[in-house]
Amino acid sequence: MLVVRIIVVATAIGALLLPGAPDPIERGTLRLHYVQKPIGYEKYEVVRDGDVLTLSSDFDFTDRGGRVQLAATLRTSPDFTPLSFKATGKSYRFVNVDSDIRIEGGAAIVKADGAESRVPLTAPFYTVDGYAPFAAQMMMLRYWKQHGEPRVLRTVPGLPANDVFIEPRGREAMRIGSAEVRLERYSIDGVVWGRETVWLDEKGGIAAAITRAGGLSFEAVREDLEPALVGFVQRATRDRLTDLEAITTRTKLLKSGTYAMVGATIVDGTGQPAIPDGVVLIRDGRIAEVGPRASVRIPPDVSTVSVEGKTIIPGLWDMHTHATQVEWAPVYLAAGVTTVRDMGNEFEFITALRSAIASKRVLGPRIVAAGLIDGPGPNAFGVYYAATPEEAKLAVAKYHDAGFEQIKIYSLITPELVKVICDEAHRLGMTVTGHVPNGMTITQAAGLGMDHIAHLGIRGEAGSDEVNATIAFLKAHQTVIDPTQSWGELLGHALGTPIAAFQPGVLKIPAPLNRVFSNAGAAGIDAATARIRVERGLRIVKALHDAGVPIVVGTDEGIPGHSVHREIELYVEAGFTPMEALQAATIVSARAMKMDADLGTIERGKRADLVVLNANPLDAIRNIRSVRWTISDGRVYDAPALWQSVRFQP
Ligand SMILES: [Zn+2]
Repeated sequence: MLVVRIIVVATAIGALLLPGAPDPIERGTLRLHYVQKPIGYEKYEVVRDGDVLTLSSDFDFTDRGGRVQLAATLRTSPDFTPLSFKATGKSYRFVNVDSDIRIEGGAAIVKADGAESRVPLTAPFYTVDGYAPFAAQMMMLRYWKQHGEPRVLRTVPGLPANDVFIEPRGREAMRIGSAEVRLERYSIDGVVWGRETVWLDEKGGIAAAITRAGGLSFEAVREDLEPALVGFVQRATRDRLTDLEAITTRTKLLKSGTYAMVGATIVDGTGQPAIPDGVVLIRDGRIAEVGPRASVRIPPDVSTVSVEGKTIIPGLWDMHTHATQVEWAPVYLAAGVTTVRDMGNEFEFITALRSAIASKRVLGPRIVAAGLIDGPGPNAFGVYYAATPEEAKLAVAKYHDAGFEQIKIYSLITPELVKVICDEAHRLGMTVTGHVPNGMTITQAAGLGMDHIAHLGIRGEAGSDEVNATIAFLKAHQTVIDPTQSWGELLGHALGTPIAAFQPGVLKIPAPLNRVFSNAGAAGIDAATARIRVERGLRIVKALHDAGVPIVVGTDEGIPGHSVHREIELYVEAGFTPMEALQAATIVSARAMKMDADLGTIERGKRADLVVLNANPLDAIRNIRSVRWTISDGRVYDAPALWQSVRFQP
């Protein structure tokens, strides 16, 4: 009681000392979640002073031990037209935010990341810099409603200005205990890459939002609505699948059913020499025949597609993704990726997306899924955790029942439970991947039964006795490694080096992603040091490969689609032949998931997952980027159209 009274007195004195500071007319608190785990809060208030509304927001979370804070102030006129916006801090571990915008004479004076620019504005426009703070998106929705719900809003920063599309998606009532809360649901496309969902209450206050941060699912829910979190995730998931259905309908199929691709160079991925002037005959989603033109008989009623001058390779795999938004589906196909392994996601989202793709309701790569399990506590990742053998078995069973192929062990799992999880997963016919848990070495993790290891997880120098011993152990266990070297290169590059110097794909990404990656990189190191680190990793990858340890291509997202190509290029830089690098992204991955009877090479009887390239990657590995058409389960998609469907440049 005493404490409370002191605070009351202090507040009263504070108010006395600041005459003229008006009381807030509105306050709110959102609980922030990362992949559904509560990790922090956003607190905001709105003050009215004459003709100026001032929104202040404190955005603060701790993700796996790392604190992320952002302070933002938005000043607007009473109709929510921005006057100024300032945001400083981080919106994710590697996303620095430093924006200072004021509106002056029909233009935005934008100070962002140390540079000042003048961006001419035509109404309607808004000032917002990424998903955080959510209260700024709430104010943007109010502005949009007040200004006749325009089709497009221009937003700054973003050069020259970014297009944001807002769409009302319906009304609903959420039941919390005995209370019913009436909400309006909106989708917002363009504040981040892809669509977010935001709910407003009857007073226009923000009730919840579902978006992504650092590529992973991020959920914000008003404190009193916390029990409805999963309901919000499910509602947003339904909207996103409807959106992907619309993309699927708009994306014309070039071919499906039975047809023959004639005249290309065929790199079948088995390691055999390329077949010049080859034919692939496809019947109902499977490869019916493949070989030189002279030896494959094409039945007279079968239509043919001339692909002379092109090269056909097996569909690519990304063995480390987090497909947390439907926009990944066209991106992956556009990049020639026909199978992905999801490594951690909202359970409700990934299971729904996976079955929608499998049923052909929507386009997308086939998804194999690894279910995330971490230890308990504030630093845990996700919401499925195990502190006891019983909990570990229950978590494995949950994923098994939902059709997951794998378990992904995360950093806080104890050695005792690594063994329990591996034994239980193996008993159920699943395999286990994951991080090397804290305090363990890669050989301990593999020795306890982990079939795969995500990221490289090996310290020391290639060629040292210690690393040689580790490699011999992994070889004996046939442990599969997805080293995610492109991810390390992307986040570890010197800030002074433009990403385009090693990843040309960055020049084609949508503006909101560009904004995220323009600030990503390692501060305080030079380009040479960054490159030395990349090369150290590549030497170990090459040593693992030479020893016969299976290496599979995985990105951990990075630059959507393009990072798959970069990962393959890096293996060639490491010393793989182009064929070996291609196999890491095809047959080696298929074998690692025990799906090689059906996938991974261009052979008779396998599923027709193929990529038609404009140029041969065996001549120069960068040709892997020249995707013209992607064939997913026998359906032929135009790569440029797929890129454009989600606002990438082709
Ligand atoms: Zn990951």
